Amino acid sequence: MLDRGPCALGGLERRATVENRAPEVAAWCSRRGWPVFPLQAGHKTPRPGCGRCRKSSGRYEQHAAADCPCIAQGRWCHGFYAATLDDDRIARWWSERPVPGVGVATGSAGLVVVDVDCHTDGPVEAGRVLPGFDVSEQDAREVRTGLDTWQLLARVAGGPDAAEAVQTLTVETPSGGRHLWFTAPRGTRWASSAGGDHAGRALGWQLDVRAEGGYIVAPGTVTQAGMYRAVGEARLPARLPGWLAGALERTGHLLQSAPRPRRAAVPNLARQIAAPQAESAWARAVAATALAQVAECERLPEGSGWSTKLNKAAFTMGGLVAAGLVVSDADAHRALVDAAMQARPQREKEAHRIIQSGLIAGQRQPLNPTKDR
Ligand SMILES: [Zn+2]
Ligand SMILES: [Zn+2]
Repeated sequence: MLDRGPCALGGLERRATVENRAPEVAAWCSRRGWPVFPLQAGHKTPRPGCGRCRKSSGRYEQHAAADCPCIAQGRWCHGFYAATLDDDRIARWWSERPVPGVGVATGSAGLVVVDVDCHTDGPVEAGRVLPGFDVSEQDAREVRTGLDTWQLLARVAGGPDAAEAVQTLTVETPSGGRHLWFTAPRGTRWASSAGGDHAGRALGWQLDVRAEGGYIVAPGTVTQAGMYRAVGEARLPARLPGWLAGALERTGHLLQSAPRPRRAAVPNLARQIAAPQAESAWARAVAATALAQVAECERLPEGSGWSTKLNKAAFTMGGLVAAGLVVSDADAHRALVDAAMQARPQREKEAHRIIQSGLIAGQRQPLNPTKDR
């Protein structure tokens, strides 16, 4: 699956012919419920925030992102912590010149991205190739780059054809590496890690994991080194395959496993609802009812009120967000996208518009568990 171009060439020679489509890319990601934030134009690092937030060292040590006044005011301080799904904010950020690149906050997007590096500095000692598995000296000797580690991981964890069977959004990086994008199964949360980290959690040598507490450069982003380009046929992430989920779990990346689903038709709400508090059961029931009415349109013909139900559900979720009963706007947004797409997958743009306006309207009227029961 990973056709290996010459690592050193990367995307350099193509740079001149590529136009910067960052505004479109940002909107595309947001429609999928993936919160975005600006990267420094031409670079893969976050756009620096203001001096109130950063010390002269450049680090965000003045206050935690959760206490930052700038983020609430629509600024991009604190990197991926400022990531948003808000159309107006996105339009404003990406009308800046030079045009910023697009970063996706993988954790709140519900994404797990395996970042396969392509530095030709192997071989590596057998014990460091795949920390979760026994790797023979002979196999280790053949590992030259992260691409080899990935193939080996697929073989030991998924069987002989596992690497070839992975059909998912795959992005070639300017240095010749690959980003393999997956969606986390509903309700699960996964840790980030750096494969070069000897001591900590690691999936494999030159295999980084971008999930909670991390971000990934969106395909289509252009840096001075070249373009992050989608390759292969898939243009959307596939669900995390079981063998890879198993390997991630084995190497300590699983932070929260999926609760047992109660109703198949309703998106799982466990991670969207703030907990633990007295109101959370009430909030879960309110959200579940609203989302179920949208998702259940799957079994009904067109014209059965999907858009009205979606608008109502978005309004309700907005009220829960404003009341602090749902963890984040992004979680509410994604639950709504899931429900809407389950019922009407072909009406994605319309769903996005309805969800945005409903969430905004709903957030002006916080739901009150004592009054709105
Ligand atoms: Zn700031
Ligand atoms: Zn700040």
